[in-house]
Amino acid sequence: MATIGFIGLGRMGRPMATNLQKKGFELVVYDIDPVGMRQLGELGAAEAASAADVARQSDIVFTMLPGSQEVEGAVLGKEGLIANGRAGLLIVDMSTVDPRTTDRIAQAARDAGMSVVDAPVGRLASHADRGESLFMVGGSADDFARVQPMLQAMGTTIHHCGDVGAGMRTKLVNNYLAVVSCQLNAEALALSQRFGLDLHKTLEVIHGTTATNGQLKIAWPAKVLAGDIEPGFTIDLAHKDLTLILTAANDQGVPMPVAAAAREAYSMARAAKWGRKDFSAMVDVLCDRANIDKPRL
Ligand code: NAD
Repeated sequence: MATIGFIGLGRMGRPMATNLQKKGFELVVYDIDPVGMRQLGELGAAEAASAADVARQSDIVFTMLPGSQEVEGAVLGKEGLIANGRAGLLIVDMSTVDPRTTDRIAQAARDAGMSVVDAPVGRLASHADRGESLFMVGGSADDFARVQPMLQAMGTTIHHCGDVGAGMRTKLVNNYLAVVSCQLNAEALALSQRFGLDLHKTLEVIHGTTATNGQLKIAWPAKVLAGDIEPGFTIDLAHKDLTLILTAANDQGVPMPVAAAAREAYSMARAAKWGRKDFSAMVDVLCDRANIDKPRL
């Protein structure tokens, strides 16, 4: 049986690795923070001492790290996967990163006789907990076939978007809409609160027209509108994604003025120390600023 490495056991990686372990895969895990490792260790996963240690023991390695810098370190560094893995190693990056990082690690892997699949994740952290994630996959047909059983253990919906890099680019398009929706919802509900409107009635009206969106309809009732602003997906990560989106858009000559404005709304939230809160809390940030009662169902 293939040994599966897993690096990055945070809000997303921990439940995803847990689902792999519980569904019978042989796992070796690593995180710079020992807490997640201990939890996986208790479930029977082997605990590695470093990314290099994971590489030496694995046939396929999944990474679920904060961003481009961490992924490049774990894959390309001296103590990383490519320098320490064997030929044929398959690296599956599920983090959200700059697509140029994906291109760089894919090229370095090819040069070493290894390969990369990008498989960024859609839906919420609560879906990851339940093994109901959605994957946007980029990679060759053979590599896609190799990773499919593991993705099926962590999710319910798997899209093969094209060659390596296509998953990450699809993810940026998707997250542009998801992250900007939060800022739009924040402004709309702050105005509704200031008007003194009934929140239930306002939402009922919005959900009956084309004004609604998935954040407002599905995500928010379980998070900020229920008074829960613990992540989930943090304002820091939403800001990171908008920065990736703007960088990619500028690089490709696509003007995205709304993305730029929304990114700076997230910058203001971070400056006011809301960065570690769930991104649905963008409405609380705005209400705080404008001295408006926070919307709660
Ligand atoms: P997180 O910050 O909770 O987890 C990241 C983990 O990586 C932490 O446990 C951290 O200790 C570990 N880490 C950092 N640097 C490391 C290194 N060099 N070596 C080993 N471990 C290291 O973040 P998260 O919410 O789990 O998100 C992970 C990725 O998934 C991000 O790219 C994010 O954009 C993406 N994502 C998150 C969500 C969500 O809802 N949280 C949804 C989809 C995609």
